[in-house]
Amino acid sequence: MWETLSLMFMRRTFLSNHRAAGLVEEDLSPFHARLAAIGDRLEPLSRESYARLEQLAEGLSVRARNGEPAESLLIETFALVREVAHRCLSLMPFDEQVLAGIALHDGKLVEMQTGEGKTLAAVLPATLLALGGKCPHILTFNDYLARRDERWMRPVFHFFGLRSGAIQQGLSLDDRRSIYRGDLVYATAKEVGYDVLRAQLVRALSEQALQPLSFAIIDEADSILIDEARVPLVIAGQRAAAASPHQLAALSRQLAPGLHWETDDQGRNVLLTEAGMDWIENTLHCGDLHADENYALLTEINLALHAHVLLKRDVDYIVREGKIELVDAFTGRVVDDRRWPDGLQAALEAKEELQIQPGGQILGSMTLQHVLGLYPRLAGMTATARPAAAELARVYGLRVVPIPPHRPCQRIDLPDLIYTTRAAKQRALIQDIAANHERDRPVLVGTASVAESEALANLLRDAGLACRVLNARNDEEEAEIISNAGIPGAITISTNMAGRGTDIRPGGADERERARVIAAGGLYVIGTGRHESRRIDDQLRGRTGRQGDPGTSRFFVSLEDELMVRYGIQELIPPKWLPVDDDPVRLPMVHREVDRLQRIVEGQNQEIRHTLWRYAALVEQQRKDIHAWRQMILSGEVELSVGQMRHPDHFEELSALAGERAVREVERVITLHHIDTCWAEHLDLVTQLREGIHLVGLGGLDPLHEFQKQIAAAYRELPTRIEDRIAHSMATLEFTEHGFDLQKACIDAPSATWTYLVNDRVLSELQQMLFGQGSSAFAAGAVLMTWPILLLWGVFRWVKRWRALPGL
Ligand code: ADP
Repeated sequence: MWETLSLMFMRRTFLSNHRAAGLVEEDLSPFHARLAAIGDRLEPLSRESYARLEQLAEGLSVRARNGEPAESLLIETFALVREVAHRCLSLMPFDEQVLAGIALHDGKLVEMQTGEGKTLAAVLPATLLALGGKCPHILTFNDYLARRDERWMRPVFHFFGLRSGAIQQGLSLDDRRSIYRGDLVYATAKEVGYDVLRAQLVRALSEQALQPLSFAIIDEADSILIDEARVPLVIAGQRAAAASPHQLAALSRQLAPGLHWETDDQGRNVLLTEAGMDWIENTLHCGDLHADENYALLTEINLALHAHVLLKRDVDYIVREGKIELVDAFTGRVVDDRRWPDGLQAALEAKEELQIQPGGQILGSMTLQHVLGLYPRLAGMTATARPAAAELARVYGLRVVPIPPHRPCQRIDLPDLIYTTRAAKQRALIQDIAANHERDRPVLVGTASVAESEALANLLRDAGLACRVLNARNDEEEAEIISNAGIPGAITISTNMAGRGTDIRPGGADERERARVIAAGGLYVIGTGRHESRRIDDQLRGRTGRQGDPGTSRFFVSLEDELMVRYGIQELIPPKWLPVDDDPVRLPMVHREVDRLQRIVEGQNQEIRHTLWRYAALVEQQRKDIHAWRQMILSGEVELSVGQMRHPDHFEELSALAGERAVREVERVITLHHIDTCWAEHLDLVTQLREGIHLVGLGGLDPLHEFQKQIAAAYRELPTRIEDRIAHSMATLEFTEHGFDLQKACIDAPSATWTYLVNDRVLSELQQMLFGQGSSAFAAGAVLMTWPILLLWGVFRWVKRWRALPGL
C-alpha cells in the first residue's frame, strides 16, 4: 500500500520537476546585452560631479513623467542608479546585481544566493518604476526588514527626488495613506493584504489608504509565494455571541466522553452523540438544537467541544500573560498575530478561563496568494526558486532566472549523517559541534522548532558549551543575534524561520576576525533534521558560503525523526541492515530513501496547496466581483434607486424634507452597509461549508464540486438579499431635526475592526484526510480499509451538519 502510494507521488513529483526544467531560463544572453550597454554608460558617469548627476536624475525624471516608456529609460537609469549607489551607499552594484535588476524589471523570479545583495539589486528596477509613477511595492519577509531595507536604500531614492516609506504594523491610517501616496513602498505582503481588506470596508473614498496596486518585487519570494501563500488574512468586527463562551466551556467539561461525544479514529474531529444533544437541550432548555434559530448556538457548542477535546495546551497552544498563543505546527514556533479560526479562539480562551479577546464576525478574508494576485505585475527574488519553478509558473505565471554568484560558491555540502536512533544522532551532533567550536569555527545549528532548539541548548550546556538560542519573539533582536553568528567559535541555534534576511559575515562585524574564521573553514551550518522540502534545507545551507566565502553544511538525520516516523521509513529498512551502536548508517539505499521520502512530502504538500487554492478560487472570484461593485457605489459611479423604486411615497416624503441628493447619499451608505453585512454572512457560510465538506467525500460525492455548487447557489441569492435589506432600511428611514436616523435603520459601522492571520492547520488536516494525502500514507490506507464504517459515519454527520446550516 505504502509503496503504491509512494510510487504515485513519486511519479507526480517527477512530472512536476520534469516540467520545471522548461520553466527555468538558463540563457541570460538577453540580459547580458542590456548589461553591456549599462556598463558603457556607467564609465563616464564616474567622472561626473555630484551636481551633474543630480541634473541627469532630474532629466530622467522629467522624461519618465512625460510618458517615455520604462524600457527606453532602463539603460540610462540603471547606469545612474549604479553610480548613485556607489556615491551614497558606498556600494557599487555588481554586474550580477544589475542582471538581477534587469530580470526583475522583466517580471522574473530571480534566484540569487544568500548574501549576493538582493536588497540593492531590487533598487535598480524599483527606481525606474517609481520614476514612471508606478509606485512599486517591495514586499519583505517581516516588518523589521521593510524598515531596515527602506532606511538603507533611501539615499538613492532621495537622490532621484523619490519619496520612499515603510509600512509597519500599527501605523495610523494617515501615515499609511501618506506612505502609499509616495513613490516607493516597502511593506510585508500581509500588511498590504490587511490594507486591501480595510479598503473594502470604508464608507468614503477618502478613508482608503491604499492606492491602486501596480508592481510588486517580492523578497524571499518562495516563502511568501509558496509557504505562506495560503494563510488567510482576516478582518473582523464586533458581533454578539449566541451564548457565553464561558458557559459553553463549563458545559463541555460536564459532557462525558463516549456517552455525550466521540472522536474519530485520527482524533481530528469530535462529534456530539444523540445522548449528548439531548443532554444539552435539557440543560440549556433551548429546544431542538437543529432548529434554525439554534444554528449559531450549535456552532458555538461544537467549537467549545473542539477546544475542550482536541486542542492540547502546550502542544497546540500555550497560555502566556492571560493570552492564548498559538504554536505553529510547521515550525513549532509560537506565532504572533495568528489566531484560531474565529469562534474557536474564544472557545479556547473560555476553556482556559481567560478573558475573551475581541474576535467577532469576519468582515473580509483573503489569502496572501490572492493579495499578490491583485498586482498587475509581479517579480521576485530568492535563493531557492528552482525546486519550486513549476508551482511558481502554474500559480503566478512567474519564470525563474538563476543569476550566477558574484564569486563562485565554495560551500561544501557534506552528505547527511543518518543514525538509527535520535539519541545517537544527538550524541554525534554534540561531538561535532564541540569539535568545530574548539577549532574556533562558528557553528549555526538549524532546528525544526523552538522546543528542539531549547532541548539542544540544554544538552550543549550540559557538555560545557555556551550557545545562543534564537527564540526572541522580536525580529530586530533576532537579526542582532544572528549577525553575530559568524564570530570565531560562536554556537548559535536557530529555527529555520528565525533571523531571516540577515547577513552572517565570517568573523562578525570585526573585520580582523574574518581571516581567523576563514582559516577555520568559514561558518559551519548544521541541520538537525530534514525539513518538509529541499527548498527549506537549502535556505539553511545558504546561510554559509556568502559571496565566495568558504563554508560547510551538513544535515544530521535519525530514523526516529518525526518526518521519518510519520512516513514509516523504518518499515522499509530491514533491522539487520542497521548499525546497533552509535555508528551512522552507511547504506546508500537508506540515503536514497531519505531523499525519496522528502520528495514525496514535497509532492503531497504541493497537491494540498493546489487543492486549497481550488477551494478558495470561486470565493475569491465572488469577492472580486462584489468589491468591484462596492467600489463603484463608493465612488458614486452607480445611480442608486432601490428606495425610490420600492417605496416611492416614502422616498418623496424624505426628499421633500431633506432634499433628493441627501436621500440618495444616505441610500449609498445604507447600500454599502448591507453589502458588507451580507458578504460577511456569506463568508460565515463559506467557513461552515468548508469545515464540513470533507465528509461529503466520505459520502461518495465530489467535495469540491459540492462545495462550489453550494457557494455558487448562496452567492446567486446575495443581490436579492442585499436589495431587500436596502428596501427595508429605506422604508424605515426617518428624518428628524438631527438629520437621518441611521441607528434606527440599523446602519451602524463596526465600532472597531482588527486583523489577524488564521491558523490553517485545521483546514489542511481536513484536506489531508479527504484526499488521503495526509500526514501518513498509513492513515490514508486506514481510511480506505475502514471506508464502509466511515462512509456511514460520514453521511450521518454530514446530514446533521447540513441540516444545521441556515437556508439549506
Ligand atoms: P541577500 O538579501 O541577497 O542575502 P543582502 O542584500 O542582505 O543580501 O546583502 C548582503 C551583504 O552584501 C550586505 O552586507 C551588503 O552590504 C553587501 N553587498 C551587497 N551588494 C554589495 C556590493 N555591490 N558591493 C559590496 N557589498 C555588497
